[in-house]
Amino acid sequence: SPVPTIVLNDGNVIPQLGFGVFQVPAEDVTGVVAEALKVGYRSIDTAAVYGNEEGVGRAIRESGIPRDELFITTKLWNSDQGYDSTLRAFDTSMRRLGLDYLDLYLIHWPVPSAGRYVDTFRAFQALKSQGRIGSIGVSNFRVIDLETLIADAGEIPTVNQIELHPTLSQRDLRQYHANHAIATEAWSPLGQGTLLDNPTVVDIAKKLDRTPAQVIIRWHLQLGNIVIPKSVTPSRIAENFDVFTFELDSQAMESLSRLDSGKRVGADPATFSAGL
Ligand code: NAD
Repeated sequence: SPVPTIVLNDGNVIPQLGFGVFQVPAEDVTGVVAEALKVGYRSIDTAAVYGNEEGVGRAIRESGIPRDELFITTKLWNSDQGYDSTLRAFDTSMRRLGLDYLDLYLIHWPVPSAGRYVDTFRAFQALKSQGRIGSIGVSNFRVIDLETLIADAGEIPTVNQIELHPTLSQRDLRQYHANHAIATEAWSPLGQGTLLDNPTVVDIAKKLDRTPAQVIIRWHLQLGNIVIPKSVTPSRIAENFDVFTFELDSQAMESLSRLDSGKRVGADPATFSAGL
C-alpha cells in the first residue's frame, strides 16, 4: 500500500489516509465502501449515529480482504455515554458491523455538561482489556477535556479526531496532542468541500497540476494528521487516494496554513449535546 502509517501510543498502527462515511445513506454505503476498498483504502471511519454501520460491515465482508489488513473505526453516540450504556452500545455497533473485533472506538463528542466521558472511557478500557477493541480514543475533545480524561481515567487516549482543515488549523490542540503522544485525526478535512474553490488552494493546485482536494489532503499528510476524506463519487474517491506521488513545498504549506480563520463548518465541542 502507498499509504504511510502512524504508530499510536499503544503500539497499534493506523493508515494515515482513510475513508469517512458521514452522511452516506445506509442504502448506498455498501457500494461506496466497496469502491473505496477497490481503490486501496484500508481504513474506514463510521459512527453509530451515521446509521450506516450495517452497510459498512457488509462491504467489509463482501470485499474478501483479510480482516487484519483493515482498520475499522466507529464511535459511541452521546446518548450512550456512561459505563453500562457504553458496554451495551458497543455490542450493538459490533452486531451491526458484523465484527468481533474493532480497531478503534471513539467517544464521538465530550458533552462536557453531562460529565460522563470519564465513565465512558473506563468502559472503553474494560473492552480493550477484554481484547474486543485494539485502540481507544476520543473525538472533539478540547484541551480541558483531554486534561480531565487523562487525570481521571489515568490513560492517554490514542487519537483525538477533530474538525481540522486549512481554515481551522487547530494549532494549539495539535501542539497539545504532540506533547502527549496523541495522534491527530482530521474530520471534514476538506472543510466539507467549502475549501475546494479557495483561490489559494486553486492556485497551488494549478501550479502542481493537481486538484484542490489533493492539495488539501497533502497538507494534512505533511502536517502528520490522520485524514479521512469522504466522497460518494468513484472518480473523487480515487482522486483523494492519489496523493502519494507529489509534495507541497514549505511555501505552499505556509500559504495554506495562513488560511486559518478559526471558522468551523461543524458544531462547537464546548456546547454540542445532541442526543441528550
Ligand atoms: P470532507 O471534508 O471530507 O468533505 C466531503 C465533501 O467534499 C464531499 O461530500 C464532497 O462534496 C466534497 N468532495 C470530496 N472529495 C472531493 C473531490 N475530490 N473533489 C470535489 N469535491 C470533493 O467532509 P466530511 O464528510 O464532513 O468529513 C470526512 C469524514 O470525517 C466524515 O465522513 C466522517 O467519517 C468524519 N467526521 C467526523 C466527525 C466527528 O464529529 N467526529 C464530524 C464530521 C465528519
